[in-house]
Amino acid sequence: MPTDIEIARAATLKPIAAIADRAGIPQEALNPYGKFIAKVDTSAIPDFASKPDGKLILVTAISPTPAGEGKTTTTVGLGDGLSRIGRNTMIALREPSLGPCFGVKGGAAGGGYAQVVPMEQINLHFTGDFHAITSAHNLLAAMIDNHVYWGNALALDTRYIAWRRVMDMNDRALRSTVSSLGGASNGFPREDGFDITVASEVMAIFCLAKDLPDLEERLGRIVIGRTRDKRPVTAAELKATGAMSVLLKDAVMPNLVQTLEGTPAFVHGGPFANIAHGCNSVIATRAALKLADYVVTEAGFGADLGAEKFFDIKCRKAGLKPAAAVVVATVRALKMHGGLAKDSLVREDLAALEAGLANLARHVENIRKFGVPPIVAINHFTSDTAAEHDLIRSFCRNHLGVEAVICRHWAEGGAGAEELANKVVALAEGGEADFAPLYPDVMPLWDKLETVAREIYGAAGLVADAKVRARFAELEGAGHGALPVCVAKTQYSFSADPTLRGAPSGHMVPVRELRLSAGAGFVVAICGDIMTMPGLPREPAAERIHIDANGQIEGLF
Ligand code: ADP
Ligand code: MG
Repeated sequence: MPTDIEIARAATLKPIAAIADRAGIPQEALNPYGKFIAKVDTSAIPDFASKPDGKLILVTAISPTPAGEGKTTTTVGLGDGLSRIGRNTMIALREPSLGPCFGVKGGAAGGGYAQVVPMEQINLHFTGDFHAITSAHNLLAAMIDNHVYWGNALALDTRYIAWRRVMDMNDRALRSTVSSLGGASNGFPREDGFDITVASEVMAIFCLAKDLPDLEERLGRIVIGRTRDKRPVTAAELKATGAMSVLLKDAVMPNLVQTLEGTPAFVHGGPFANIAHGCNSVIATRAALKLADYVVTEAGFGADLGAEKFFDIKCRKAGLKPAAAVVVATVRALKMHGGLAKDSLVREDLAALEAGLANLARHVENIRKFGVPPIVAINHFTSDTAAEHDLIRSFCRNHLGVEAVICRHWAEGGAGAEELANKVVALAEGGEADFAPLYPDVMPLWDKLETVAREIYGAAGLVADAKVRARFAELEGAGHGALPVCVAKTQYSFSADPTLRGAPSGHMVPVRELRLSAGAGFVVAICGDIMTMPGLPREPAAERIHIDANGQIEGLF
């Protein structure tokens, strides 16, 4: 089997105008970025708003392991499978961040014969959306220090500036910095730091806004810090939001690309799945639903984090009603959940597989709590055995009452996901879906978090010290009690301990900190260590990346 990049390079791409045509996007709505990428101005599509919505299919997964699951690959494969069985389909994915590209080798545009292309551009700079978001974020940061420099009329307490700086690079040296050093004309020195762009609240806002005016209003609600008497100060008070929106005006248009089989795909926005909600922009998802009968989209991490936030934050706030959810699992990852080490996954091991199925079972049951019918996709790896497949299928049928479909899209493209596509259509058209978020808007923030911990993580409850509890009360008192909670915890376990695989229960979830993202419209509950500026490994992939004599990039994927 050739590598992902070899497959992507060997593909003959269709001009983006032909892909737009297939998606029903008129040429007037296309802003091409070269031959194979275009931004789409939905305001130039006739009768756009009055079109009925297609069916929204979420692709999520079991708790991730180093063995890999393949959510993006399955999202693309299912999209191509649906196209093959004659459904008018679009795919909606996140944009990759530059940071990980130079750390650990690997792209984020799918794999094997299930990829979106042109994959090098998608992974590197693409249409510049992340640069625009970085610039908008840093404009606000510059205006904060400038405001303080020129007299601080808003009386910002510079010890508590809540707005850090960002850049789209893994750079641990910038996690904690001191700014304004070097003399009086450089301002007032203060502790500062950088996050990676995908952790910016501007990114979360960008992905939850329904249009440009909504984006501007949300930017205005960003809390940048507080006064000495603890009054929150917003970006609107600093008069920053008009200029920030100007920087984002082209970026908000979704980016159109194609799969290897020509299925149209929007790749747009890419918030972190811990400090934010981890799915592509609402603008792209909504546009895809207007254009296609089936829209396949992915949520980051396992279903306990990704799907929960997709449902409780994105779908709740954007009024989306998913018709079905695909839970991706692999034989290898399930065996790891059953206790096997990474180097012994190639051997058949039915006992480990059976033990690991507890993880899949919990995720499937969780999806049902949102009124969304689940189906299991087994992403086929060459080391899988027939007995292992049989065991998963019969467990799913007999114990979970759910179908498990073996998928070969990685090796075969859309043809390998046709069975999954047919079953997804049957599920989505069976009238079973009755989506509702897990908790209502009107419920104390503590109770919302406890509901997620008990219902989704199988936890016994929450633990928090007095200071954190006081912060819950403070946010309720300031009128933020109706917001959903966005949990930042390890993706490797239902618990807060990344080493507890399988389906642990009865644990306590430690709540360390609550952060308000007033513009994005959620409260982040930090439950464990989270990293908002990753670092590079000892031998970063960047050391091996170069351009060869033919002008081709080597070593990136
Ligand atoms: P996720 O979205 O869950 O993070 P991806 O779909 O991006 O995962 O896949 C991660 C990597 O695993 C990609 O490099 C992809 O090529 C590889 N991969 C996915 N499915 C398979 C498979 N069935 N066999 C071998 N490799 C696979
Ligand atoms: Mg992915």
